[in-house]
Amino acid sequence: LIHLKNVAKSFRASDGSDRTVLDNVDFSLNDGEIVALLGKSGSGKSTLLRIMAGLIPADQGICEYRENPIYGPVRGVAMVFQSFALFPWLTVQQNVELGLEAQGVPAREREQRADEVLELIGLAGFGGALPRELSGGMKQRVGIARALVTNPDVLLMDEAFSALDVLTGETLRNDMLDLWKEKRISTRAILVVSHNIEEAVMMADRVIIFSSNPGRIRSELKIDLPRPRNADSAEIRALVD
Ligand code: ATP
Ligand code: MG
Repeated sequence: LIHLKNVAKSFRASDGSDRTVLDNVDFSLNDGEIVALLGKSGSGKSTLLRIMAGLIPADQGICEYRENPIYGPVRGVAMVFQSFALFPWLTVQQNVELGLEAQGVPAREREQRADEVLELIGLAGFGGALPRELSGGMKQRVGIARALVTNPDVLLMDEAFSALDVLTGETLRNDMLDLWKEKRISTRAILVVSHNIEEAVMMADRVIIFSSNPGRIRSELKIDLPRPRNADSAEIRALVD
């Protein structure tokens, strides 16, 4: 679904020098798979996700979604952020509907879709609440609902569970996996960025290890089902620099 070839990205540092964050990244996200992207802080994982979502352009290389070049935000690709990125002055319902407003969906349909997806994610009845009235886990459920409301093909989850306590993160992760396995969401591929090796092994069919300075794909492991739980974590940990 998403295809990157030879992607590079640099940022201008405050001293005026260019810093290469991504270099020569080749990556494909295929229909039907959950892929985890693991790597040290600062290795460029979020940058790569933002390029895939069309939020920032790559400096170089090929970036395609369904064989079309990615220019600007892509309908069909949705992102969930570590910090939830909710608008505090908008209700849960309004935050979720935002995902559809950009697409010009009429109000009536927006409301209905938001209701459906809030129910799906376990937030039925919370549409009128403000984000500050919700726990962290519930806030991230809103973040996920806002992404899912557009019926995306591709869901990019940037450390979506890492701001939550272990138990809350695990519950939400399992709820997401259930929705995915039971095909109750339209999503055809999920990319999960994580610091957490156990989480990556738990969720993904494929784990990509990113090395830093500059960010580059170092190795790839395929997870055989049944999932090894923690069994292979030491092996993977050794690959994360
Ligand atoms: P983390 O695990 O901490 O989230 P990451 O792997 O997601 O890290 P990025 O957020 O992609 O890393 O950042 C990679 C590097 O690019 C960092 O050194 C960061 O400072 C730099 N960077 C990211 N965005 C910008 C920007 N808009 N302007 C300048 N530098 C940036
Ligand atoms: Mg990041």
